[in-house]
Amino acid sequence: MSVGIFGGTFNPVHFGHLRAAEEVREKLNLEKILFIPSGTPPLKTEGIAAARHRLEMLRIALRGNPFFDLSDIECRRRGKSFTVRTLETLRTLYPEMRFYFILGIDAFLDIPNWWQPDLLVAMTDFAVISRPGFSFRSMRESPYVRGGARIPKDIDESNDEVNVIRLRSGRSALLLRMTPLGISSTSVRRSIEQGKSIKYLLPPGVQSYIITHKLYKS
Ligand code: ATP
Ligand code: MG
Repeated sequence: MSVGIFGGTFNPVHFGHLRAAEEVREKLNLEKILFIPSGTPPLKTEGIAAARHRLEMLRIALRGNPFFDLSDIECRRRGKSFTVRTLETLRTLYPEMRFYFILGIDAFLDIPNWWQPDLLVAMTDFAVISRPGFSFRSMRESPYVRGGARIPKDIDESNDEVNVIRLRSGRSALLLRMTPLGISSTSVRRSIEQGKSIKYLLPPGVQSYIITHKLYKS
């Protein structure tokens, strides 16, 4: 059984996350996508809604998709949320399962700043998803991508197949082109702050939740 692990702050979850998860599942033929919101993100501190709110918004957003599951393991854990710890826990719980850690190019490039990055890249294979503003070719600058890894020139424009590159750790990164959706949680929060509409950027139920709980208004 193959499962996609989709970690993030999800502050709040939006259609960029949801559509990407759907496309990854379909492309890689995964049985499940497991969304894992971080409890206390190690690298972000300001403007973060309480973990219970981010969890609840995800619950609302994932409802009705039988392939999408939600995990509260990072939210329940005390202290900072480290991906390495999460993957260790998942491996112990489900030793037979094959995991792909899903993340955007921006997040992949940021891995050197994560906790124990060398260990992380040796622990799992990755599904790296395209994101407007970031190119797969830029991944050649990552210290975790093997020198000389072949990243096709046209990959950022028109390639529909799954390209696999080797990481220095021996693990693989699958490069997946998504329908480009230039939505970010930051831009959603900014719009709320400025009293602008966030309609069609995230599920209506999530929008209602944000309004009811007066989230992201200073
Ligand atoms: P923020 O602006 O607060 O950082 P975000 O929109 O980047 O929020 P995160 O929770 O940080 O959302 O992202 C979780 C994961 O989803 C990351 O790996 C990120 O690269 C990916 N991701 C987020 N939005 C998109 C998008 N529109 N297209 C593709 N990937 C995305
Ligand atoms: Mg982000």
